[in-house]
Amino acid sequence: MNYTPVIGLEVHVELKTKSKMFCGCSADYFGKEPNTHTCPVCLGLPGALPVPNKKAIEWCVMIGLALNCTTPLFSKFDRKNYFYPDLPKGYQISQYDQPLCINGFITLSNGKKIRIRRVHMEEDTGKLTHVGNESLIDFNRSGVPLVEIVTEPDFESSIEVVEYLKKLQQIVRFLGVSNADMEKGDMRLEPNISLKMTNELPKYKVEVKNINSFRFVGKAIEYEIKRQTEILDRGDMPEQETRGWNDEKNITVSQRSKEEAHDYRYFPEPDLPPIRFTEDQISDIRNRIPELPDEKLARFQKEYQLNKSQAVILTETKEIADYFEKTVKPGKVDPIQIANYIINKKIDINKVSSEEVIAQVAGKTSGIIADEGELGKLVKEAIDENPKAVADFKSGKENALQVLIGAVMKKTAGKADAEKARKILTKLLKRGLFPAFKVR
Ligand code: ZN
Ligand code: MN
Repeated sequence: MNYTPVIGLEVHVELKTKSKMFCGCSADYFGKEPNTHTCPVCLGLPGALPVPNKKAIEWCVMIGLALNCTTPLFSKFDRKNYFYPDLPKGYQISQYDQPLCINGFITLSNGKKIRIRRVHMEEDTGKLTHVGNESLIDFNRSGVPLVEIVTEPDFESSIEVVEYLKKLQQIVRFLGVSNADMEKGDMRLEPNISLKMTNELPKYKVEVKNINSFRFVGKAIEYEIKRQTEILDRGDMPEQETRGWNDEKNITVSQRSKEEAHDYRYFPEPDLPPIRFTEDQISDIRNRIPELPDEKLARFQKEYQLNKSQAVILTETKEIADYFEKTVKPGKVDPIQIANYIINKKIDINKVSSEEVIAQVAGKTSGIIADEGELGKLVKEAIDENPKAVADFKSGKENALQVLIGAVMKKTAGKADAEKARKILTKLLKRGLFPAFKVR
């Protein structure tokens, strides 16, 4: 039979605030000694009271606005009750019926809009590690601000899901509110998948929990589509359940029957007053939103006459976009040539300065100096004239090389072949042929 996949997505994004959501503990817990970033509040000790993190709430609203959401002026926190040892209070402070942001969307490259139902604020749990027969618990992550972004079941393929996730990751990174580093668990993915034959929504839903890579989310969805197709083809109905992804066997495995909202006995958090915004506060947050990837992409095409694929590459991260614009800004060379050069030469923006790129691109049209003998002479001069840079390089500061290349560039009015100059420089410096490089 032919079924249409119906896929929705819940994404948890950890914010990179300095402190946790409801206490003053440092939220910078990754790789730290277990249970060193804790206090009575995030350990759930009796009598401890939460104080909300203003920045986290503002950043959650900022994410919502960037995702085209409406942000109601009234919002509140609720308790989500469930028992698990990584949740010291026995409940998670989250948001139920009045989240900070509702009704947004992300547009995919084919023009399809994926509707976002809600963006809400909550706190992370502790982290369990199972070793043999023992379970270890680390509460450093307990109470770290977490934003949950929930879509409508608008996806029909794993390809759409992965594109959405990449865009979402890019947006939160452009906003500077999360590193969204999958490997560190900054972004955790929970797709829910079912199949339909008619236009009605299916009567069951299978959720796959806590996946931490785009590749695995794609594989888990593909696996579920296949598994559910087989069940439906037999004339059965897949169970409503929560499954886990096993990345060694590349399968999903049943974990528990899927809970309903009422299982959590949500009720308003009595320890926290509701949140009331003024219109001005919301527009203040809106004004702090930087240029987002889609806008940048459109502007790069219009302002610099780049084609779409060039613009896509040069707006992938804020860092590469800024680097490109910094290189274009002096107006010495054509932006399209700069774009081609950065893309084709796969320039490492952390190693090659934008001045070098300008010189290289300009050099192509105006007689670049690439003669080894001539370059060697200039490099030696640069070394003699810049003892400090040489000493810096010797003490391990790789950046010092940049200063020396800059000096060579200056001597040649930007016409030296920077790559060759770099090679000669490195060779000479490492040989220690020059007085300034001798051990004193
Ligand atoms: Zn704490
Ligand atoms: Mn959640």
